[in-house]
Amino acid sequence: MFAFLPGEFLVKIKILGSAAGGGFPQWNCACRNCSRLRAGKLQAKPRSQTQIAFSPDDRVWFLVGASPDLRAQILSVPELVPHADAPGLSPIGGIFLPSADVDAVMGLLHLREFQTFFVFATPAVQCVLKTENRIFKVLERGDLPLQWQVLSNNGRLGCHLSASPGESPTFVCNTISLGGLFPDYVSEEFLRAAEPDDATLGFLFEQDGKKLFIATSLSGENAEWQKLAVSADVTLIDGTFWSNDELQRTRRTNKTAREIGHLPLSGSDGLLAQFPANATGRKILIHINNTNPILDEDSPEHRAVLEAGFEIAYDGLNISL
Ligand SMILES: [Zn+2]
Repeated sequence: MFAFLPGEFLVKIKILGSAAGGGFPQWNCACRNCSRLRAGKLQAKPRSQTQIAFSPDDRVWFLVGASPDLRAQILSVPELVPHADAPGLSPIGGIFLPSADVDAVMGLLHLREFQTFFVFATPAVQCVLKTENRIFKVLERGDLPLQWQVLSNNGRLGCHLSASPGESPTFVCNTISLGGLFPDYVSEEFLRAAEPDDATLGFLFEQDGKKLFIATSLSGENAEWQKLAVSADVTLIDGTFWSNDELQRTRRTNKTAREIGHLPLSGSDGLLAQFPANATGRKILIHINNTNPILDEDSPEHRAVLEAGFEIAYDGLNISL
């Protein structure tokens, strides 16, 4: 199905979206950031909902998550539209799902036009999509329906782009459980049966000795992520909230960041403090909520994360590994 070009390639990574659920600005939010952005009074970039794409060979692309903004995000990138020599075939070969959150799976519905591709997900996330939500059956209408692939919540999966047997994998996907919760739309019956460690995954993709670590939703319950962050050349990590009570202060909900599965950036036990000091790769914050003051490029919080050596992802950021 895919032509594999021999030799070493730079893995190309594209940040198609960098905001948390709702995007920036969010349609129903008039927080300080959203209202000032709409009024043109904020030094900040608008952002669509988090979407990562990477290519191991500059031909086939893989998505991490499937954002609600996926259709527009695909159309914005020439590499992701079908090539003239294969008009019925998207260059998107597969999708790695970190969770069953609406923000991570809703985009699958944009990919429903009788297209085949692989979907990599834990057994529990597959169960959510197959039995808790019949709408995703729409993906299975093609003559070649989508192909489910099981991800362990603590495993190593070799991914081959070549059809020839015996070759080493093009890239390897290592997975770890990041703790966290299943989405609140699932049934009680599902929750009783589901393996909690299947809820939210982090990915360490390896190719030609280079490593990309992706943890867009980090609860902090499991400290294993720190080892992967140390080993990675590039880390894309949860920058959802600056403070634990951010949503309460902006009156969006009365839950804390930690209660909804995100380690806040600030504080003595926040992500900036917990990020391993001996990590030498690029560290890039992604999945940034519209309430987060780091979005304001004139803010002390924005300066603080840059001074701590982090980059802040934006839509259109390209990275080579
Ligand atoms: Zn807002």
